[in-house]
Amino acid sequence: MTTIKFTPGFKCFMETSFYSRLREIKLNNLKLSDEYISLNGDIADTSSILTLNSNNFEECNHGLSDHLKMNGVLKNFNTEQEFITLNKLEFLKHYCIDNIWNTNDIQLIINSFVLITFADLKKYTLLYWVAFPVFQIEGLTFEITSKEVFKGCEDDDECIKFIIENPSVWCFLQDEETKGCENFLMNEVCNTLSTKIVCVRNTLSEITYPPSYLKSVLSLLHKNSPHIKSLKLKIISGNGNIIKYDVNLMLHTIDNDGKKSPPAVKVTGWERNNRGKLGPKFIDLSTLLDPLKMNEQSVDLNLKLMKWRIEPDLNLDIIKSKKVLLLGAGTLGCYVARTLLSWGVRNFTFVDNGRVSHSNPVRQSLFNFEDVGQWKAEAAAKNLKKIFPQLNTESYVLDIPMIGHPPTNEGKQKKDYEKLYQLFQQNDAIFLLVDSRETRWLPTVMGKSFTDKGHEKIIINAAIGFNSYLVMRHGNFEDKLGCYFCNDVVAPNDSLSDRTLDQMCTVTRPGCALMASSLAVELFVSYLQKNVLGEPQHQIRGFLNDFSMIKLHTPSYECCSACSLEIVEEYKRRGWDFVLSALKNYKVVEELSGLADVQREMEKKLESINFGDSDDDEFVTID
Ligand SMILES: [Zn+2]
Repeated sequence: MTTIKFTPGFKCFMETSFYSRLREIKLNNLKLSDEYISLNGDIADTSSILTLNSNNFEECNHGLSDHLKMNGVLKNFNTEQEFITLNKLEFLKHYCIDNIWNTNDIQLIINSFVLITFADLKKYTLLYWVAFPVFQIEGLTFEITSKEVFKGCEDDDECIKFIIENPSVWCFLQDEETKGCENFLMNEVCNTLSTKIVCVRNTLSEITYPPSYLKSVLSLLHKNSPHIKSLKLKIISGNGNIIKYDVNLMLHTIDNDGKKSPPAVKVTGWERNNRGKLGPKFIDLSTLLDPLKMNEQSVDLNLKLMKWRIEPDLNLDIIKSKKVLLLGAGTLGCYVARTLLSWGVRNFTFVDNGRVSHSNPVRQSLFNFEDVGQWKAEAAAKNLKKIFPQLNTESYVLDIPMIGHPPTNEGKQKKDYEKLYQLFQQNDAIFLLVDSRETRWLPTVMGKSFTDKGHEKIIINAAIGFNSYLVMRHGNFEDKLGCYFCNDVVAPNDSLSDRTLDQMCTVTRPGCALMASSLAVELFVSYLQKNVLGEPQHQIRGFLNDFSMIKLHTPSYECCSACSLEIVEEYKRRGWDFVLSALKNYKVVEELSGLADVQREMEKKLESINFGDSDDDEFVTID
């Protein structure tokens, strides 16, 4: 008599799609949790290989109907250390006794697998180890009293028929007399076994040794029917090979000081790695994945990590989905674009009418020496895409019509106006990053004119002085907050002619633009997040001379030269005609908005005040 020898019943093969899916789940769902995830699987009955791919995560795995179904569970560890120091045998035993052995389910005993992983999301590596648990009652031995091998024997019609009809049944009974096959329950099997053959399907085509899960089947039979001492077994391979055994079951109980303790169950089954050793497998996917895809995932990773602990309610998709129009591709435009990029914005349109000059690259972070002479809008779009190739960028070289600046070429100016309007229609958020007051007027009016529900524009304005900056979101008719021009009692006018060089260029402390740009983007993002990132602000004014910052919520001014109802309505009615009249003469705007009346009123008041002749001594100086 010889004892049965076994070979591992399964092998596992990992496809890259498994890692990709696990990565997604870890990043978006699991985060810091290491709870068990159930996996499905299937293998062909002529193969012992369980292929792990993204389908394993689907609740309903649409494997081929004649495939054997596998039930798995995955535990992903948060740190490599946890994975390595885990007591693998204890872990396997602990999980499998409760969740598999104690169910008494013969199919589950055979077709279960346990996978442990550590996925390094930054390095694109995966440490993993699969166990196909094998249960053995300690002290129980299986001795062969007879063995017969039938190669390619397919004349066992009843068996073959049963297998075809029950693809997910791995173990069943066959009547010795009638040859009829049937499914069975473990706790009902004991009385019938004397006239039945226990049939077990074999994933291996080889017939030298049966698969190791036969050990589990015999152990479970013994657990349920300890009085059974001998069995007839039939091991059926997918290719029709059959081994028949007569087996004696013997339990050598351990006598512990005369007290018989219930036999313990040993759980083994960790797979050997490629070197034939018991140990985890390691794959480095960084060389296999598409570099562009990997790039995109890595970029998303840093943002998504915010959701793990700090801001679980952060809505990154809403930021990513916004199409952003940047008016001005200078210092502010460059920094704003880069900060938006860091937040995950993917659609950029740059508008500027200037070329990169020699002085620009040191302050304007999207340009370098080679870009000197190129259009700023085009160079900014091109260079932003170099940083992150998956972006959608567009650029337009055009003059934004300026109030109080009569057009020299009306045809071109009208075309530029129409293009600008089209860009407003196509984008969700517009950043005003131009360097003069009068350039901001038309975008302010235009921005507020999109009043249809769901089509409103988010207008973010940033402006810098030498020592100070202003960042704000223009209000709309709903929140009734003010715009950039709401504090002014004169309409913007030509401020560019007759100026010296230092007045024409923005002379500013270099850090000012970075601060204003960052705040502009954070203001935008917090507005989109509706209180998740703190209360959205309306205006922030910062002063570098004393390093202070103030927050303001200011209502819109009913006579505002840009955002008052009269101006916006007139613009909506007349479009370019109205704009043209304002370009030719800014007074048109003052009259229409009511500012002119306010000015006249003020003059009247001033005239009525009689200052008289006062003695200098009566002035009090206040420090
Ligand atoms: Zn206003």
